[in-house]
Amino acid sequence: MSCPICNGITEQKFRPFCSKRCADQDLAKWLNGSYAIPSTAPEDIENALEEAQKTEASTPGISSVQH
Ligand SMILES: [Zn+2]
Repeated sequence: MSCPICNGITEQKFRPFCSKRCADQDLAKWLNGSYAIPSTAPEDIENALEEAQKTEASTPGISSVQH
């Protein structure tokens, strides 16, 4: 298993990443995607947040990924 960000060797502590830096990068990428909103209207932001939470709830947690 290698780091999905830089293909480095996975560090057990940060798996599936090699470092906190890469984990943060992936999280930022994920957040940017989830929070990509078409406008700055408050309702849209709330909808985006709700969608993000739904996605989070239905996606296996990154930190609890098992082999
Ligand atoms: Zn990495």
